[in-house]
Amino acid sequence: MLIVMNHNATQTDVDAISRIVKEMGFRAEPIPGSERTAIGVLGNHGYVDDSKILELPGVQRVIHVSKPYKLVSRDFHPEDTIVDVAGVKVGQGCRPVVVGGPCAVESEEQIIKTALFVKKCGADMLRGGAFKPRTGPHTFQGLREEGLRLLAIAGKESGLPVVTEVMSPDNVGLVSEYADLLQVGARNMQNFDLLRELGRIRKPVLLKRGMSATVEEFLAAAEYVLAEGNDQVILCERGIRTFETATRNTLDLSIVPLVKELSHLPIMVDPSHATGKRSLVSPMAMAALVAGADGVLVEVHPEPEKALSDGPQSLTFPGFEQMMNKISQLTAFLQSR
Ligand code: PEP
Ligand code: MN
Repeated sequence: MLIVMNHNATQTDVDAISRIVKEMGFRAEPIPGSERTAIGVLGNHGYVDDSKILELPGVQRVIHVSKPYKLVSRDFHPEDTIVDVAGVKVGQGCRPVVVGGPCAVESEEQIIKTALFVKKCGADMLRGGAFKPRTGPHTFQGLREEGLRLLAIAGKESGLPVVTEVMSPDNVGLVSEYADLLQVGARNMQNFDLLRELGRIRKPVLLKRGMSATVEEFLAAAEYVLAEGNDQVILCERGIRTFETATRNTLDLSIVPLVKELSHLPIMVDPSHATGKRSLVSPMAMAALVAGADGVLVEVHPEPEKALSDGPQSLTFPGFEQMMNKISQLTAFLQSR
């Protein structure tokens, strides 16, 4: 529920309402705005009788929020959230960021070489999986803690913040010792214990859309993180399952402007997992930026044909460099408008 105050309501009115909301057993969160203040009511599990509230001084109206997310919604938080990843700002109004790196950390040489190359081309962050959520158990599962260590070394050598996936609540502490941004993969979007645990740390989270998740389910998953106190969440569209098999997934770009309407959180796009095809990555990265994405997450490997995972969708070094040149022209064009 959202209590919208009159524009001439006083702080005393807001305080009185907050007190009454607390007496009703809920949490009150005042949301000051340039025009008027609103008060978010949290902690109710169903419809709240608003008759008592509507009689109070300063109240203009009450909006009943039926969506499964509140803290994530623009109704509750009209200003855009800017997420700070070790000094790199992500969100509306910031320059779009590029996260580049291999699907998985495979060796010290591979990750350092990639880090230095993507940095030279202008990337803002380095990615690399250490805990890999593979479809079958007989494939490369990642270097685990050793992978985290190598990724952190590559991050230091290149000066880039690092992004890596965390698959279980038990590993949140370990991964947050090494990572600047903790990724929740598509397969774990509804791992609610993991989301809650990530809500209790003070590092930003990159939440990928589940492969069959609706926009509402996606935002409700982000709500779990915010509800525990961590509002530093970046959403990431990475393609969804459809009847189409020509591409690995179907990139749902319309979600970018839609999420911007519904939520204040930044959203990035991963054209690598969305398409599964190297040749489609750069065009879809550009399309994502035109649609208003706050950044792109792209896989790149020094020798994609030898990659231990996701080689066919990984850009080569020259391919990454070409994409970066196009992105810098595109961002200059978008900023000039
Ligand atoms: C990844 O980023 O390497 C990954 C496994 O992505 P997703 O969870 O989107 O499949
Ligand atoms: Mn991958």
